[in-house]
Amino acid sequence: MKVYHISAECYPVAKVGGLGDVVGALPKYQNRLSVDASVIMPWYDRSFVKDHQFKSVFLGEIKLGAQLYQYQVLKEKQNVLGFDLYLIRIPGLLDRKEVYGYADESIQFIAFQSALLHWLSIHEHDQILLHCHDHHSGLIPFFLEHCHEFKALKGTPTVGTVHNGQYQGWMDWQQAVLMPVFDWDQRGLLDWDGVINPLAALIKCCWAYTTVSKGYLEELFLDANGLEALFSSEKQKSHGIVNGIDTEVWNPSKDSLIPYNYHQAEMDGKQKNKKAFCKQFGFTYRLPLFSFIGRLVYEKGADLLPFFIEEMMNTYSGKVNFIVLGSGDPVIEKELLILQNKYADNVGVTIGYDEVLSHKIYASSDFLFMPSRVEPCGLNQLYAMRYGTMPIVRKTGGLADTVVDISSGGFGISFENDEVPAMLEAVERSLVLFKRKALLKQKRNDMMEQDFSWETSARKYIDIYKSLI
Ligand code: ADP
Repeated sequence: MKVYHISAECYPVAKVGGLGDVVGALPKYQNRLSVDASVIMPWYDRSFVKDHQFKSVFLGEIKLGAQLYQYQVLKEKQNVLGFDLYLIRIPGLLDRKEVYGYADESIQFIAFQSALLHWLSIHEHDQILLHCHDHHSGLIPFFLEHCHEFKALKGTPTVGTVHNGQYQGWMDWQQAVLMPVFDWDQRGLLDWDGVINPLAALIKCCWAYTTVSKGYLEELFLDANGLEALFSSEKQKSHGIVNGIDTEVWNPSKDSLIPYNYHQAEMDGKQKNKKAFCKQFGFTYRLPLFSFIGRLVYEKGADLLPFFIEEMMNTYSGKVNFIVLGSGDPVIEKELLILQNKYADNVGVTIGYDEVLSHKIYASSDFLFMPSRVEPCGLNQLYAMRYGTMPIVRKTGGLADTVVDISSGGFGISFENDEVPAMLEAVERSLVLFKRKALLKQKRNDMMEQDFSWETSARKYIDIYKSLI
């Protein structure tokens, strides 16, 4: 069985969040289960692309409106990721540094999808399945069926995975002229509320859709940023499959990004990491270390962090340390930096994206905070547990699915409300636990033994593929 994963992100080529982690791992595990899985993504001006060898496998041309664009398909030569990696390069459109955030983003992703289908329709003669991730590849199932140009691919099964339903790739109808010519009578499939909505088109046209946890699927039926009725009406083809983690990348006993490796039977390394980390940030080592890693956006509850940290510093003055790594809303960034200045001995803030620092934080922290309002799956809590760091989470989406509270025999602390008092109550509970060293040690040991590997979930996707082919 031959499957192409189509995505804007793939770790370690280009990652912004969980989408990158999933697409960098799932195909590798599927290949081990005898599925021929590859990834197609845009070309980025990033170090991975410069540091690895690629060969050009195809040169082609697409039309965006009246303008012709040359595109190139490059294949990574050595299979370093454990799967075939194809990059689509279009000078001026798909050759940029950042994954998102450009004013002409919708043109970029139309070009990406048009070029890859153009290439596949000419060069691919096997039975294939296209697995589209999020709205960036959401137009593909529609294009396959309703663009004459891709008639060679008509009838190709498609799976759509929703990693984050908040972002839908909306574009106004004027952009339709940039798309490959399609059957105009079918235009309703692209539309939601009077605009082109690629995520809606994906859900309408794909053969099966999945979400990255069962809990998130249930949430989308009730609240999906305007698409709840659509998710419900297409329920018969839905599946909730929780993400796994790449236990080869996220392995405290082998992780080359942390100073000291450790495992359940030999936890000294975790303490040594914490010591080194606290020294770097000027923190007292014996105090509990709390952390937050993620996008500083409302969805992640990041707007609550400044007030929460301030309250925490007042309530437990000089008795707790807090480290934040993230970027996003400039107001939140500024408020956090003010707190870092005000509580320099106990608060550390790094604004930006830093893969190495994130590994060090998972390895060094005692507790990792996730006050998310929306969390389709969440990977941070899984990485935290793998590194013996207890997650403190708001009970929502994938967090509710994967973190069982210690009061029910689990390995985390959870709270219901997205408000500061609930978060402070969780801190109080964690401090009680922090004092009970033997119990904490036991919990750490047990959480590190949990199996969050990809095998089970990778098989579930394969079962869906089999049911469609
Ligand atoms: P998202 O909604 O952002 O995709 P996930 O929990 O699914 O959230 O995945 C987040 C991933 O991104 C994790 O691998 C996390 O470690 C990483 N990450 C988030 N923010 C940063 C950052 N500022 N620096 C480094 N890694 C980050």
